[in-house]
Amino acid sequence: MNAPKILIIEDNPVNMELAVDLLSAAGFRVFTANNAEDGVQVAVAEQPALVLMDISLPGTDGLQATRALKANPVTAQLPVVALTAHAMAGDEERARAAGCCGYLSKPIDTRRFVQQVTAAIQRTSSIGSSTTIDL
Ligand code: MN
Repeated sequence: MNAPKILIIEDNPVNMELAVDLLSAAGFRVFTANNAEDGVQVAVAEQPALVLMDISLPGTDGLQATRALKANPVTAQLPVVALTAHAMAGDEERARAAGCCGYLSKPIDTRRFVQQVTAAIQRTSSIGSSTTIDL
């Protein structure tokens, strides 16, 4: 079986590099975009097993990008896990309302990140991407 594809949409180069390094080392096929528009295009083209979506992006933010993915029949079934540095009250609810099935706060926990991503893929593949999961 081919290694699962993961798309990371993140505008912060340090956060991006860390996530790419961890997931690549774990054997995932990693695709990246540093803005929402490119991210949506890559999602359409690559059909990743999971989208990791930074909520705070320049221009179109991650909530809008998630809504766009969910509104497009080509990408609606892709599980989207939100990444956010805010961890403010209501943040998680907004992410879930936009269509994210899971939520990870930044900075990512480097000891748990690969396990969290693996769990998100396994659980959404069995229960679907519209059910919320705790990571
Ligand atoms: Mn950001």
